[in-house]
Amino acid sequence: MSSLLVDRIGLLVTNDPELGEGPLGLMRDAAVLVEGERVAWVGPASQAPAVDERLDADGGCVLPGFVDSHTHLVFAGDRAEEFAARMSGQPYAAGGIRTTVAATRAASDVQLAANARRLAAEALAAGTTTLEVKSGYGLTVSDEERSLRAAATVTGETTFLGAHVVPPEYADRPDEYVALVAGPMLDACAPHARWADVFCERGAFDPDATRHILEAAAAKGLGLRLHANQLGPGPGVRLAVELGAASVDHCTYLDAHDFDALSASSTVATLLPGAEFSTRSPYPDARRLLDAGVTVALASDCNPGSSYTTSLPFCIALAVREMGMTCEEAVWAATAGGARALRRTDIGTLTTGTQADLLVLDASSYVHLAYRPGVPMISTVLRLGRREGRRGAE
Ligand SMILES: [Zn+2]
Repeated sequence: MSSLLVDRIGLLVTNDPELGEGPLGLMRDAAVLVEGERVAWVGPASQAPAVDERLDADGGCVLPGFVDSHTHLVFAGDRAEEFAARMSGQPYAAGGIRTTVAATRAASDVQLAANARRLAAEALAAGTTTLEVKSGYGLTVSDEERSLRAAATVTGETTFLGAHVVPPEYADRPDEYVALVAGPMLDACAPHARWADVFCERGAFDPDATRHILEAAAAKGLGLRLHANQLGPGPGVRLAVELGAASVDHCTYLDAHDFDALSASSTVATLLPGAEFSTRSPYPDARRLLDAGVTVALASDCNPGSSYTTSLPFCIALAVREMGMTCEEAVWAATAGGARALRRTDIGTLTTGTQADLLVLDASSYVHLAYRPGVPMISTVLRLGRREGRRGAE
């Protein structure tokens, strides 16, 4: 098995409070030993074992690879004109999704997989070593199934989102569409998905339809996630908690009952500030969630309509500047928080036995991710122990 020592780390984020200082488990002058695809040892550089291959962090900060637990990478086309129109004053409407549905249905399997791979490569260059990818722009049995096959070419964390929006051909009979999603569509998609998700929102799916679809998905062995409380208040967050969802995503409009429900649960609140940024909407109250003891994750929501970014450094900067999160909390949320939202313990943390997914920054601290927004500072990405390219070396 190949061994690689990541050496001369100025500041190491382990996310293991037993290994280092504070919630990020910080260690100074550290080294990480990678054997094959796993972390074999973490400790002071002065005690590092001798190995053949070294990766010199040059005094920079090293942290776990980002875990982006919410993306929609399987689609065709873009909606740049819609974005430009919105920025000139038109409000966001959930129906904009239908534009992407038409383009996705018209695209070939090869085109869908190629677009997903292009975006996954873009995310990897920005430090994302694990991605969740949803379907949801096909909205027919065969288009949802092939969307999930395309998603599976870039990740094992695939999510069936047939209940993204009611497609135009079912506009006057939404109940029939819900029956299709919970029946034949779920049957075809479940073998290709780890998770199921529903967009529970006014204009998308109501709480009864959401419950029906998620209960059917759970009966098929899928884990549950939910889009909720993005565009206005509603019962989605409490429903996610009641159904034991791993994560409820957006959480922009919450009332006191929602905070209480989340804080008493193991459901992660995944915040997607790229969506508020791109729709010029109010940001969720991350500070209040954290103060209530809720586990918070940050994800990109990468999609062509309301958040077309793959960059978690950008989301970290927004979370710190706009949502009251400390730099420490935002970095934790984009790494260990994302792992919790996917119910994974082998990623998001750098400790013996975890997946060797890590980032070397051209900066002395993780603080620079928010302090120097928009600046590329990831010099090396390791995923499963393999070097994924060094900036400037291509
Ligand atoms: Zn989404």
